[in-house]
Amino acid sequence: MVAVAVPVAVSDPYDYLVGDQNVESGSIVRVPLGGRSVWGVVWGAGSGQLDPARLKPIQEVSDAPPLSADARAFVDWVAAYTLSPRGMVMKMTIPVAEALAPQKGQSVVAPVAPADPGWRLTPGRLRVLDVAAIIPPLAAGDLAREAGVGAAVVRQMIAAGMLSQNQVRQSAKFHLPQFDRPSPLLSPDQAAAALALRQAVGASFSVTLLDGVTGSGKTEVYLEAVAQCVQNESQALVLLPEISLSAQWLERFRKRFGVEPAVWHSDLTLAQRRDTWRAIAQGEATVIVGARSALFLPYASLGLIVVDEEHDGSFKQEEGVCYHARDMAVVRGKTESVPVLLASATPSLETLVNVQSGKYGVLHLPDRHGDAQMPDTAVIDLRKQPPPRGHWLAPPLIEAMTKTLAEGEQVMLFLNRRGYAPLTLCRGCGHRLQCPHCSAWLVEHRARGRMVCHHCGHWVTPPTVCPDCGQEDSFAACGPGIERIAEEVARLFPDARQCVMASDTITGPEQTSRLIADMAERRIDVLIGTQIVAKGHHFPLLTLVGVVDADLGLEGGDLRAGERTWQLLSQVAGRAGRAQHPGLVLLQSWQPEHPVIQAMLLSDRDGFLKSEQEGRQASGMPPFGRLAAVIVSGKDADPLDDFCRAMARLVPIHASVEVWGPVSAPLSYLRGRHRRRFLVKAPRTFAIQAFLKDWMAHIKPKHDIRIQIDVDPYSFN
Ligand code: ADP
Ligand code: ZN
Repeated sequence: MVAVAVPVAVSDPYDYLVGDQNVESGSIVRVPLGGRSVWGVVWGAGSGQLDPARLKPIQEVSDAPPLSADARAFVDWVAAYTLSPRGMVMKMTIPVAEALAPQKGQSVVAPVAPADPGWRLTPGRLRVLDVAAIIPPLAAGDLAREAGVGAAVVRQMIAAGMLSQNQVRQSAKFHLPQFDRPSPLLSPDQAAAALALRQAVGASFSVTLLDGVTGSGKTEVYLEAVAQCVQNESQALVLLPEISLSAQWLERFRKRFGVEPAVWHSDLTLAQRRDTWRAIAQGEATVIVGARSALFLPYASLGLIVVDEEHDGSFKQEEGVCYHARDMAVVRGKTESVPVLLASATPSLETLVNVQSGKYGVLHLPDRHGDAQMPDTAVIDLRKQPPPRGHWLAPPLIEAMTKTLAEGEQVMLFLNRRGYAPLTLCRGCGHRLQCPHCSAWLVEHRARGRMVCHHCGHWVTPPTVCPDCGQEDSFAACGPGIERIAEEVARLFPDARQCVMASDTITGPEQTSRLIADMAERRIDVLIGTQIVAKGHHFPLLTLVGVVDADLGLEGGDLRAGERTWQLLSQVAGRAGRAQHPGLVLLQSWQPEHPVIQAMLLSDRDGFLKSEQEGRQASGMPPFGRLAAVIVSGKDADPLDDFCRAMARLVPIHASVEVWGPVSAPLSYLRGRHRRRFLVKAPRTFAIQAFLKDWMAHIKPKHDIRIQIDVDPYSFN
């Protein structure tokens, strides 16, 4: 009898019979569950709580390697920390059922050498031998086709011993990175950092922040650590934000190591996921670059975890199991006793505080690579130099664009707003089109002829008549989205080749790589984009970055609004002047005195972070205190509110814990469900999980009410 963790929302494993098979802990097994058959993982000996006569036997043991004790300990830790059912966390380690069934090898044929002079060789048989000699082994049918003979000919040759038949596995796609290829000539700072990282690789657990300005060569430096890891015959995992968008990263990897890394993200096909999962579990994939979900895969011999752009918000998962991949990467590194490397030009306060306290080490790269200088930054005060009515680019920005384009250099305009306009309303009655499933307005995407909800994807064709007052053609766009900026650029610079880039205007990784290559090789003059253009890219001739609305993101009660805006602006600014030509960053702002804008203007990173830190410390907010959000949702508002009031009465009393709520979430209606929030605040050393567990133990959600717990929340929607 063994206990099997099953991939459903339960925490305790279920007991199953094993017969006389020897099934070790961690084995991946197929078991019956409520009329279905699912893959689970053996989590130890059975509990013996159920009458053995009622237990069901395991159906099949996967030939995939068992989950290591470390990988299981990691699952247990994440489940306990995030208060998620263990089954759901376990499921993230085996997300592709197709990879678990025994993998069929393919049968291929090859000529038997040396040829026997006694063979009776017809012209057809000769052709088969000739073809087989020059191409890699093929399946019998394919070889017959290649040689232009009937399948029977090849079958007879096998029977006569002229061809041999072998089973092969089809996972030869993952080649060993050539770690000993020459690396670029590193600057003294880079070389010192690379050496320290190479030394950390192979030692046990440590966390190091690689803190370097944009363009300082952080990627080149951490690839040295990856090379060391490969040389040590271990696997290296590199987590990147929005991996599917980083064609440039893959290109650099190829240049450095001569092969492709294994990639892991949501755009893979099922076959790719299956093969990649297997290759990771069997240790055939050596370097894995992935999105946050790659952190949970069962590595055969993990040796290093790199989290690039560690401050990035896309590492936080906010649905299902709510976790932050940067924080969990540190936990995984600790569980597996391997080093963790965090890289950023704008590190999070969380990480910086850990550096200050000595928990994390730090390596600095203070200068840009080569002769490149940091760009100059200036603010355009929109109160003094506003654009004309209905326009969004102020005169000084237009002037700078004119100059840059005249010199044959490139411009990037940044606005973190997809679509044509954030708001569309009826000029007659002020009516706005709302999403029927969410408390959100529909956003016009003129290029696609749609009004779209940015939360659930619902869309309608723009109405010609106002549904409220009946007036015709009365809808007017208010404010700019990037499509509208593109319109203005086309009017101002009709000869400039422009391109719009946002998550909804690009169709897939190929198109992204093409756009990035077009920009890098100067087939685009003006790139207009949202945050996806802000990150990582290296465009040598991009010298002017214009931020259309630098104030965007500063509003709202979000704890990290300032920090996040500063990070994003710094990343965008970091695209300018990365090669020989000096860069200029122009920030359009209505509130130039805001601390974030001032920090950008004065390049005062340390001062800004210090005051952020002091603010958080004074209010006991993260990273100095702890938060957890409890989001309660339901189809109908009244029973939901009753339920939340009952929850509020059951909050355990604890002197050092504050519980706020219930309040309507800012997105009080989302995908057809009403939402309420509680926020729990506790001191840093307080075991917030125990408190939440204690509270939840008394609560039984009825009907369609769901409770989602988010420990260390980042979004307050
Ligand atoms: P970061 O990740 O810090 O923004 P990158 O690693 O992208 O910086 O480096 C910026 C640019 O400089 C890239 O094109 C990179 O290839 C180049 N670069 C950095 N260091 C070196 C080096 N030592 N030799 C040659 N090129 C380098
Ligand atoms: Zn919606």
